Amino acid sequence: MPDDPDSYAVIGAGSSGLAAARNLQRAGIPWAGYELASGVGGLWDISGPRSTVYESAHLISSKTTTQFAEFPMRDEVADYPSHRDLLGYFRDFASTHGLSDGFTFGTEVVSARPTGDGSWTVVSTGPAGTVERRHAGVLAANGTLSEPSVPAFEGSFDGEVLHTSAYKSPTVFTGKRVLIIGAGNSGCDIAVDAVHHAASVDISVRRGYYFVPKYLFGKPADTLNQGRPLPPRIKQAIDSRVLKLFTGDPVKFGFPAPDYKIYESHPIVNSLVLHHLGHGDLSVKPDVRRLDGDGVVFVDGSRAAYDVVVLATGYHLHYPFLDPALLRWAGRGSAPDLYLNIFTQEDPNLFVLGMIEASGIGWQGRYEQAELVASYLRARTSNPAAARSFEDRVAGPRPDLSGGYHYLGLERMSYYVNKDAYRSAVRAEIERLA
Ligand SMILES: Cc1cc2nc3c(=O)[nH]c(=O)nc-3n(C[C@H](O)[C@H](O)[C@H](O)COP(=O)(O)OP(=O)(O)OC[C@H]3O[C@@H](n4cnc5c(N)ncnc54)[C@H](O)[C@@H]3O)c2cc1C
Repeated sequence: MPDDPDSYAVIGAGSSGLAAARNLQRAGIPWAGYELASGVGGLWDISGPRSTVYESAHLISSKTTTQFAEFPMRDEVADYPSHRDLLGYFRDFASTHGLSDGFTFGTEVVSARPTGDGSWTVVSTGPAGTVERRHAGVLAANGTLSEPSVPAFEGSFDGEVLHTSAYKSPTVFTGKRVLIIGAGNSGCDIAVDAVHHAASVDISVRRGYYFVPKYLFGKPADTLNQGRPLPPRIKQAIDSRVLKLFTGDPVKFGFPAPDYKIYESHPIVNSLVLHHLGHGDLSVKPDVRRLDGDGVVFVDGSRAAYDVVVLATGYHLHYPFLDPALLRWAGRGSAPDLYLNIFTQEDPNLFVLGMIEASGIGWQGRYEQAELVASYLRARTSNPAAARSFEDRVAGPRPDLSGGYHYLGLERMSYYVNKDAYRSAVRAEIERLA
């Protein structure tokens, strides 16, 4: 990688890093990428050291609501492609736009810090050893779903404990009694995998969930109702009614009733969990009270024996190469305090990409984040007045990105946005900077 202090460092070559590279390229802004894995694709490259996908992983959102708008997936690709197809997609995207040559692969950024004169120093380790380079700024696109969140349980367990981040293949369950703790999208996918291999499968949940099937009326569920967003109360009333008609009441399958409305937490997109519950392949258990030798005691006082416990307990945000103060962040728990989840008022040359959770935001939502960063950098020379008023907004109050939904106070919901509210806020800023 040639030394180029005018270039912006892009950290990560997943959907967010590729979107960053592509938008800087389109704006004529020099960039240089760092990627720990041996190629592009981010967590969709199952062999990547930080990948948390498993052999059976497919998109949860459908391809047309997920793909980059400028690079639609081929017609022959399925509605919900596998991780293999998605890796192929990112490789095609990178080679079509000549992005791969701009990344140094097998190279981990271990530190990125402002030098004090407006530029940044990035320290990386890789085949070239430890390398220190100066850059004009940093776009951190290192992903949000790689650093496991592992709860502390009372007691101890004699069997195997596995976090979803380490799960790849259901053969690990062959002949075993399996407990999955947590029924998020990965927990449900893994439960469905396990029923074909394990001696028994239970899933322990703390709250009720809304289950959205992958297809409704013969179409990918997330492609319906794509027009003007309905007011939250109306959308919640209609969609929960449609779901009850299509999937039935999850309470009848053993789940607790949700004590929140649909879309106040991330919905579970899985048609098969209820199917397997209905076939007796899977049972729902309450929250865990304590681990207990060869088994687990639940909060209702019941106890069951297991060989494997899978922690489907989610992920922490993780920016170990950055000083958390630059992100206005305590480091754990809540999320960095960033304007539009991207810009910090602590440094005008630091940007975080991909730090959004939202139902249906897709890679296009991440692409638009990168487009906004490139628009701001370009405006600093082409329209300094617009860039300055943008900086005032970065330092000002945070806009409401909830779309009127009252999100649950969970760690992963601390950077959750409503996709329509978020995308229109980002689009409005891109237009103001033009
Ligand atoms: C099972 C599963 C299913 C999912 N389904 C969907 C879905 O249906 N729709 C959807 O929109 N999203 C889905 N996601 C979310 C997923 O996070 C996004 O699709 C997307 O991969 C995020 O891209 P990213 O570039 O932000 O992060 P990542 O894809 O995680 O890429 C980050 C990259 O940064 C690299 N990196 C990390 N640290 C460093 C470092 N210090 N130095 C250099 N490189 C570094 C990593 O190696 C990685 O390649 C799913 C996630 C999982 C796990």
